[in-house]
Amino acid sequence: MSQEMDASLRRAINKAVKYLEEGRVVPFGGRRDVFYVISKERRHLVRVKEGRITCSCDGFKARGFCSHALAVWALLMMDERERYLEEKIRDRLAREIRRLRSTGDFRI
Ligand SMILES: [Zn+2]
Repeated sequence: MSQEMDASLRRAINKAVKYLEEGRVVPFGGRRDVFYVISKERRHLVRVKEGRITCSCDGFKARGFCSHALAVWALLMMDERERYLEEKIRDRLAREIRRLRSTGDFRI
């Protein structure tokens, strides 16, 4: 693996960890073979089919890997992925609700 590839992979892995930790990897309609990965500007669709993981982003098309696909791959490798997903998504929603409340645009 070239140094350039190495650096690119390292960046993608670090982003993948961030997506997972921030609850940005979300099962699509409760499925476990399609996931949304919510990046800052965009949403990417990651599919798992017959052990292969693919992503809808341009980076994946160009390099054959990306932070979104790596995030889903890491998630699928976790022993406690269901609990982890649930916890991270719940935390993310709680943060978003706090943020919305703090702007004053959101009242129940
Ligand atoms: Zn991607």
